[in-house]
Amino acid sequence: MTAAMTATLFQRLSAAAAAATHRRFSLDVSSQLLRTRGYVHGRWVSAPSDFPVLDPATGMEIARVSDCGPEDAKRAVDSAYSAFYEWKQYTAKERSLLLRKWFNLMTQHKDNLARLITFECGKPLKESLGEIAYAASFLEWFSEEARRVYGDVVPPPIKDRRILLLKQPVGVTSVITPWNFPSAMITRKVGAALAAGCTAVLKPAEDTPLSALALAELAEQAGIPAGVFNVVPCSREMAASVGRVLCTDPLVAKISFTGSTATGKMLLKMAADTVKRVSMELGGHAPFIVFDSADVDQAVNGAMASKFRNSGQTCVCSNRFLVQSGVYERFVAKLGAAMDAQLRMGHGSEADTTQGPLINARAAEKVGQQIDDAVSQGAKVLRGGRRLHGSFMEPTLLVDVTADMLCVREETFGPLVPVIRFDTEEEALALANASNVGLAGYFYSQDISQIWRVSEALEVGLVGVNEGLISTAEATFGGVKESGMGREGSKYGVDEYLEVKYVCMGGLNV
Ligand code: ADP
Repeated sequence: MTAAMTATLFQRLSAAAAAATHRRFSLDVSSQLLRTRGYVHGRWVSAPSDFPVLDPATGMEIARVSDCGPEDAKRAVDSAYSAFYEWKQYTAKERSLLLRKWFNLMTQHKDNLARLITFECGKPLKESLGEIAYAASFLEWFSEEARRVYGDVVPPPIKDRRILLLKQPVGVTSVITPWNFPSAMITRKVGAALAAGCTAVLKPAEDTPLSALALAELAEQAGIPAGVFNVVPCSREMAASVGRVLCTDPLVAKISFTGSTATGKMLLKMAADTVKRVSMELGGHAPFIVFDSADVDQAVNGAMASKFRNSGQTCVCSNRFLVQSGVYERFVAKLGAAMDAQLRMGHGSEADTTQGPLINARAAEKVGQQIDDAVSQGAKVLRGGRRLHGSFMEPTLLVDVTADMLCVREETFGPLVPVIRFDTEEEALALANASNVGLAGYFYSQDISQIWRVSEALEVGLVGVNEGLISTAEATFGGVKESGMGREGSKYGVDEYLEVKYVCMGGLNV
């Protein structure tokens, strides 16, 4: 980020009078999709109080949403439980067609849905449109997978028996989602759950309930029956009590969560009492390794894509850049130049913005602390480094970083590139694997043997080889170690919502 660009942004956002800013950045979406109440058993339900949804770029309130409580959550669970007995009787083809209609409606309303994302989570409109396409792709994918849930007929060891393995839906699923993908984290779970024949109760993140409620509106328009998909939005203050119902109610069979490792561990403990099935997508700490054998331009492109998407706020964003000595200077120089040329901070609704704000001031503060810590231990700031207006954080390039610095030990969730120099492949792998989490990992190499060695040695659930953006509905998503358990997307995604039942037919006259 050049000084001139930074100054422009700073003046533009801080000097504007509140009223003018309000006019300039007001949420303008179809009223049909701007839903602000909970959605339980096919009805829009109010709560005694509501909570504000803020535009993180301006800090202004864009809507107030019903603050659902534990009683609403219980009603939603009961609704999902009663709906389950009907929904699982639908044929796979019927469920498939309804998911397909939901997909079509998302595609039809993509512009409005994208604006909701940009205003409640801050990401640039182009990325929001990308998220809607990605989110919808899970409904499409699982509408197709719904019809391919096959069991097995197994050769029996005893002549007069036949062995069948049936796949059946687990039941009511509680879905708890984060703010950084307000739409895609919902469809990736709910699409799979509904395809399997499960019903769902969703608690969206308090920062981004509008995208979730718009999805409920479209589910209803698609004809998904009452109770099959319920949404209970609530404030952060209410999250623990709503979460307790969703994670302990005996009628709930399964919990699917995406969020921080700390919250995931808490939910896991609650799930234990009633032995619920769990899928957990938790934090990441992705290494991005550039070997001497890499195509450096390709590596720079990958670094830009995997680091700066959503201003660095995705769990698969590169978090630690390990660069081999032979290409270190070249990579750093080219990355700095690409940051100058390509990154532009601003409100997500403006066409040239590539970097929106972080979700809140706390998030920006955390990045600031990591930078201060690194600098105090000898790292150098080559680009950016400053916290700006509100929760805007300059894209920052740090060199001379060492493994004991905070930014290498902790997930950043912000636009910070800390670069560590290494000499050997063994050293890079040791650094990359020195983490208690393992979600994504990326590396750049043109050496085919090295590509196999490193792909197999990285302790992560997703590997990008010469690619910085790899998530897709067709492939698995999920981590190892404390990054979680279970896999979403792909042909395995539906399995998370299925039990396998063994049926033995004996005494046959065959
Ligand atoms: P972040 O700190 O980025 O918001 P969290 O893991 O805390 O990450 O949030 C992810 C989701 O978990 C959000 O929907 C949030 O409301 C929810 N959540 C947070 N605490 C609890 C809790 N005690 N019980 C249930 N859900 C929770």
